[in-house]
Amino acid sequence: MSARILVVDDNPLNVKLLAAKLAHDYYVVTTAENGIAALEKIQENRPDIVLLDVMMPEMDGFETCKRIKADPATAHIPVVMVTALSDVTDRVKGLHAGADDFLTKPINDIALMARVRSLLRFKMVMDEWRLRETTSNQFLQQVPGEAASLAAYDGGHAIVMEDDPLERQNMMQMLSKASMRVTFATTVAETAALAQAGDCDLVFASLDLKNEDGLHICPQLRTHEATRQLPILLIGSDAEMTKISKGLDLGANDYLVRPIDENELIARTRTQLRHKRHYDRLRKNYEDSLALSLVDPMTGAYNRRFLDAHLPKLLARSRTSMKPLSALMVDIDHFKKVNDNYGHDSGDAVLISVAGSIINSLRPTDLVVRMGGEEFAVIMPETDMKTALSIAERLRQRIEKLSISVKNNSQNINVTASMGVACIREEDESNVQQLLKHADEGLYKAKETGRNRVISNDGSLSKA
Ligand code: GH3
Ligand code: MG
Ligand code: MG
Repeated sequence: MSARILVVDDNPLNVKLLAAKLAHDYYVVTTAENGIAALEKIQENRPDIVLLDVMMPEMDGFETCKRIKADPATAHIPVVMVTALSDVTDRVKGLHAGADDFLTKPINDIALMARVRSLLRFKMVMDEWRLRETTSNQFLQQVPGEAASLAAYDGGHAIVMEDDPLERQNMMQMLSKASMRVTFATTVAETAALAQAGDCDLVFASLDLKNEDGLHICPQLRTHEATRQLPILLIGSDAEMTKISKGLDLGANDYLVRPIDENELIARTRTQLRHKRHYDRLRKNYEDSLALSLVDPMTGAYNRRFLDAHLPKLLARSRTSMKPLSALMVDIDHFKKVNDNYGHDSGDAVLISVAGSIINSLRPTDLVVRMGGEEFAVIMPETDMKTALSIAERLRQRIEKLSISVKNNSQNINVTASMGVACIREEDESNVQQLLKHADEGLYKAKETGRNRVISNDGSLSKA
């Protein structure tokens, strides 16, 4: 799905160049020639990311950034400051103004695309969590918001993967200024083990290890549940830009270039800690929702009560962001027979396995809901009908291939599922009830025409 990027610069040539580069990668670009115009555009049409020049007449980039971050309605939009190459103090000032990242002029294409992609990924996940949080808060007591001062994020525990004694000493000195506790590791395996043991807020990973490629730390941490969201900061030399960019694609959050500037290190560390604490808070809120039974304890899917409160918000958001929203209704075929033939406990095991398969096949931003019995709804933001149909078809095949082992039964159980798909595009007038009703109609048709198939309400069909 393409994203909307606002480019702000008082120099028309810069704007044109940057806009052309981004449009080439299919981003939708809008532009503004100064800070005030930028703030207006942001209010009018919330972009997914803002690229902000520092030096502008009237209102400079710092002030513009501060205002974006001070307004709760726009604070979550990632801001990338664009500064002159030499000016380290500018970069640090930018991060203190609340910027999420910065790029230096002349803009390196690899760095531009890597940072844009990595911030968009972060934003999409956080948007989803924030929205779910507002729904949980209808049931929960209000949780206090983010603390304003970046220094409030000092402290915590960093793991530094570095085998050079001088660099180690250097890092120790700089990180102690942010009151961080530091543990050193020499290899990827050692770093991963330390991180998975918990009690870690941040990993610094050198790309110049003598005996191995430090980049391996990214997949190592990202494929484990406990460390999936742990911030990773890469450290490399200017000549390693391609490798750094690959690391950002593999899930690293940010990078530092040697020789490391102390102020920049501290500012980037604080930004990552701020993101992490924010994410942890949202995550905890999710667990509180679980305790409040907004989540079905057997399958881990959200329940109907949560969906009823949450879906109108997803729909409203898809309208303002002008992105489609799709729904999928899934019902296991002849489930009654599973209960009858193998017993109710085996039926439960099948439900858990099917729900797990659905949840694990989707993005973290997709919402999986147990509607009741053996029926699930999946709500997919930023997903058009064509994509929704192919996701449904993939799910159908996965469920069909599940071979579920159950207690007291030598034979594994196989099941199939029928699915209905519906999509709301921005020009549609449909409401929440209609979206679910249309998905339900597709499901009904799928059952009627033989089961184990996917049918959409607009007649598109994919079958076994
Ligand atoms: P169809 O292909 O038409 O969907 O047939 P079906 O048998 O799957 O549908 P039906 O709705 O007739 O039966 C659903 C069954 O699911 C009936 C109910 O006893 C069972 N069921 C509902 N909730 C649970 C549960 O939590 N655990 C178990 N084991 N069974 C459940
Ligand atoms: Mg059924
Ligand atoms: Mg049913």
